[in-house]
Amino acid sequence: MSARSITRFWEWGRKIVCVGRNYADHAKELKNPVPTEPVLFLKPPSAYVREGCPIVVPRYCSSLHHEVELGVVIGKGGSCITESSAMEHVAGYALCLDMTARDVQDDCKSRGLPWTLAKAFDTSCPVSDFIPKERVPEPADVTLWLKVNGALRQSGSPSQMIFSIPFLISYISAVMSLEEGDLILTGTPRGVSAVQEHDQIQASIDGLVTMNFTVAKT
Ligand code: MG
Repeated sequence: MSARSITRFWEWGRKIVCVGRNYADHAKELKNPVPTEPVLFLKPPSAYVREGCPIVVPRYCSSLHHEVELGVVIGKGGSCITESSAMEHVAGYALCLDMTARDVQDDCKSRGLPWTLAKAFDTSCPVSDFIPKERVPEPADVTLWLKVNGALRQSGSPSQMIFSIPFLISYISAVMSLEEGDLILTGTPRGVSAVQEHDQIQASIDGLVTMNFTVAKT
């Protein structure tokens, strides 16, 4: 491989750390309690998919949901990072989808099982181009939205997040070292819904990036 570049972090970054239930209105729409501590789970790097390739519905899933999320790309690794220095570890951002096999997740939750089948399958992490942090001076103030076949389903702002980006970086890095190229998915606003084969998903961070994906069957 040629010299790795943070602008193509999905080709070499080693983990994707996801935060569940980080918007109170989304926790409520799924009848989950609003958390008092971050809910964390992981996706493997094999979950990445880029524009031009489809999002594939897992064979075992009958209710694939979209979750539009702000992704934070780590530029400088560390462990036990303080909240006050957390933003020094950020290289930039990306628009991400946390594709979720909702029926499978509901079954896992009811049986007390981990969410791996529901969250970590191939193509479960569509990701946009990299956005350097210099272009996003106030990440909490951006607007994320997602449309399915042209109809608006989700719209929200990280300002509505329960746990802020610096808090999440500090919290996660006290559990597992964050490394250059890692991605943090910061949670989704309300409006998640199911998509079907042939659906067109369009998502955007207003004014910064837009991406389009088609849903396909295996
Ligand atoms: Mg999510």
